[in-house]
Parts: sequence; structure tokens; C-alpha cells
Amino acid sequence: MGKPTITCETHGLQDETWVCQHIVAGLENRKRVGFFWTTEPPENPRPDAYCHACNERVKLTNGEWIGAALEHLEPKCLCGGCYDLAKKFHSGENPWS
Ligand SMILES: [Zn+2]
Ligand SMILES: [Zn+2]
Repeated sequence: MGKPTITCETHGLQDETWVCQHIVAGLENRKRVGFFWTTEPPENPRPDAYCHACNERVKLTNGEWIGAALEHLEPKCLCGGCYDLAKKFHSGENPWS
């Protein structure tokens, strides 16, 4: 069994990754929203990621993606290349320089 893959217009065939809607929107609008990720499973090089606001919301539910935390998450699929770009950008670097 291979990993799930996705074909990106920019990066071609890549591993599929999941991030919150704000990370995707922030990448489009060039607005930094922070970059946090789950530590499970530890062998995943590109774990599910979410923004600062989602991180604050999930703290209130003791780390469970339920209620308001889940409601605002609206996870979106990103290719591995776009994920790396998003991580750099939201961590404060400029991936386009
Ligand atoms: Zn978010
Ligand atoms: Zn991509």
C-alpha cells in the first residue's frame, strides 16, 4: 500500500497532506497565521497542521477536534510541496524569495 497522493498544478505528483482552512487561505492572501502540527504519528514527515487560532481553540477542548475546534478547522488537502511552502511562510520565512 502506497501513501495517498495528489497531483498539484505546481508540484506534480506529491504526497497528500492535510491542513486547516486558515493555512490555505493565508497562503493565498500572503497573511501569516502560524503553523502548528500534530505529533502523531511521529514517523509522518508532514503531519496534519493548523494555524494559531485553531491551536488556541483545540487547547480549550483538551486537544480534541470537537465542537468549535472542529467547526473552524475545515481541513483542506495540500500537496507535499505546497505544505512545505506553507510551513516556511507561516513560520515567518519567505519561501518566494
Ligand atoms: Zn486554522
Ligand atoms: Zn503543490
